[in-house]
Amino acid sequence: MIQNIVTLPHARLRKRSKPIGHISKQTLQLIEDMKESTLDWEDQRQHEVGVALAAVQIDQLKRVVVIRSDFDDKNNRTFAALINPEIIKHEGQQVTEFEGCLSVKNVYGKVPRYETVHVRAKNPKGDVVNITANGFLARVLQHEIDHTNGILFVDRIKDTPEAFHRLAEDGHISDMDEVERDEIFKVIFE
Ligand SMILES: [Zn+2]
Repeated sequence: MIQNIVTLPHARLRKRSKPIGHISKQTLQLIEDMKESTLDWEDQRQHEVGVALAAVQIDQLKRVVVIRSDFDDKNNRTFAALINPEIIKHEGQQVTEFEGCLSVKNVYGKVPRYETVHVRAKNPKGDVVNITANGFLARVLQHEIDHTNGILFVDRIKDTPEAFHRLAEDGHISDMDEVERDEIFKVIFE
């Protein structure tokens, strides 16, 4: 079922999610709801792609994330689901790139993330999966695992106001002036 995507200042977004013990029918339904809700969100926005989602973004404090199978092809509407994902190890430098979030409206930020991460999780069948991810996938995994710990990308760049940019409806990214930033900070850090 399609669920609403919750956005800041919703307080639950900053709560830690609980691990999944037994993978039940409910867990599998949650995964389906997360995929449908991401696609529904995307279908309503011509210039955006729903790359990934954490369960807290449909208001469920569970450690589950879904990630698009193909980041470059919008027509590929399949996802991988990760249950209880955790970063085992990170490698390389931190790289700073633009990031956005379905739960943070109109904001893009330049966020430092590790180049490479090793992630352990379970798949929906209950098998343990180990993933070594680089580049954009590594970024997405760090962003989503942050969600399961109640951290949003804006929290990572709170002390670097110049990292905040405005995302317009037409997909255009522009600098944010101080007044705009103050307004947005009131919403996202209240
Ligand atoms: Zn997000």
